[in-house]
Amino acid sequence: MRVLENFINGAWVASAGTTLLDVKNPATGELLAKVPLSTSADVDAAVQAAKAAFPAWRAVPPVQRARYLFKLKNLFDQHREEIANICTSEHGKTFSESFNDFGRGIENVEHACGIPALLMGDHLENVATGIDTKVLRQPLGVFAAITPFNFPPMVPLWFLPYAIAAGNTFVLKPSEQVPLSQKRIFELIGQVGLPNGVVNLVNGGREVVEAICEHPDVKGVSFVGSSNVAKIVYRKCGETGKRVQALGGAKNFIVIMPDADMERAVQNAVESCYGCAGQRCLAGSVIVPVGDAYERVRDLFVEYTKKIVLGDGKNPGTTLGPVVSRAHKDKVLSYIEKGLQEGAKLVLDGRNATVDGLPDGNWIGPTIFEGVRPDMVIGREEIFGPVACFMRAKDLDEAIRLANASEYGNASSIYTTNGKAAREFGARVEAGMVGVNIGVAAPMAFFPFGGQKASLYGDTKAHGAAGVDFYTERKIVIERWF
Ligand code: NAD
Repeated sequence: MRVLENFINGAWVASAGTTLLDVKNPATGELLAKVPLSTSADVDAAVQAAKAAFPAWRAVPPVQRARYLFKLKNLFDQHREEIANICTSEHGKTFSESFNDFGRGIENVEHACGIPALLMGDHLENVATGIDTKVLRQPLGVFAAITPFNFPPMVPLWFLPYAIAAGNTFVLKPSEQVPLSQKRIFELIGQVGLPNGVVNLVNGGREVVEAICEHPDVKGVSFVGSSNVAKIVYRKCGETGKRVQALGGAKNFIVIMPDADMERAVQNAVESCYGCAGQRCLAGSVIVPVGDAYERVRDLFVEYTKKIVLGDGKNPGTTLGPVVSRAHKDKVLSYIEKGLQEGAKLVLDGRNATVDGLPDGNWIGPTIFEGVRPDMVIGREEIFGPVACFMRAKDLDEAIRLANASEYGNASSIYTTNGKAAREFGARVEAGMVGVNIGVAAPMAFFPFGGQKASLYGDTKAHGAAGVDFYTERKIVIERWF
């Protein structure tokens, strides 16, 4: 069985870690690889390589740094299907979901190819007589990213292209649950001729994260994962004086007004809740039909949900893959039990779902609860599985109050044909990303991505202009020539 290695200073090297975790195909249970839990010594080696590479890399003109990314974009396009297949085998999502997952990552490489324009600063002549002021955007040094299991190719690419295009050097710690997509992506990165040490990859878990947050030579950390860990990373990085953007968990509300285009709205909401088996930070989680829309929405929702086909994501007919691991399946099942104990009504029960010929898959069928209240655990906490919770609201005000009662604020959507209601919702709902007749409000690479409240610790979102801000120091030069 292959044991994964780390990519440090341009070479694949064995980890110093002796603990190995299994990487399994969540649909079949097949063992795909073993991933080491690397140590602080591995992190130090990666950071030292990145630190040593920084002075020469920052001196490379931005237009030349961008040329590496053009090469990378072409290589990624050529290998898009291959990496999508790897993603499906380690994560479980369907092939088309994996294809789009990587596609969204590639769009970030594309956007970062425009780094010469993105790095331009401001300049004002004559702020006072004979004095000019300009803003220089400069790289800072070594940045690290720590990423979650749910978008194996994409999330690291929210960060890596901007960090290095801006002239920094970079260390990635991918999720230990899904390390194979990034292994292949780093093999491709290794082919574009970047100087050694500019990008590095260290496999592992908590020890690697702690070593990154504590390392004195790491200037900043981009984190994506659950809110509990996001908060820890935010705090540790604050203590050690680093820049940090820590994106956390979510509980996304979908409000459906009585005037909505019902068929399209509900079909879209169903996809939002069950796409990627509900393991999206933008997944619809709580459905709030407003006023007399309730029964129509619920009945249509159940009807469409019953059309979902559970199975191995590599099969073309599958619309719902397994959840990522046995442990995660148990966690989602425990939420369903909790919902029952709290008195919510199970309208569709996915607990005993099976798939012919695949007894070892982590299957959970689509599940629907009615009668969920904001004070229930299933109404409050992130389930991160194929479970939709219905709440009632008598009007838009109440729907917004329900959504805003959540400690999270990642995304929220409204379905309506009424512009005033949409405008009101967009203005008042406490979410970083708002969908209007869109169930998964995912900003593209050239816009910033991120939530509010417990969904984002820090004030800088990922990618787009925010990404460039995070990875640069805006130095002000005020000059006078005698
Ligand atoms: P997770 O928090 O368990 O893990 C994220 C990363 O942190 C991994 O690399 C992991 O190795 C590391 N980690 C885990 N426990 C740690 C600990 N105790 N100390 C230090 N490091 C630790 O998250 P996950 O289960 O991999 O991913 C799912 C979560 O990510 C969900 O909450 C989801 O909403 C969130 N997410 C958020 C966004 C966003 O944009 N806000 C995007 C994707 C995923």
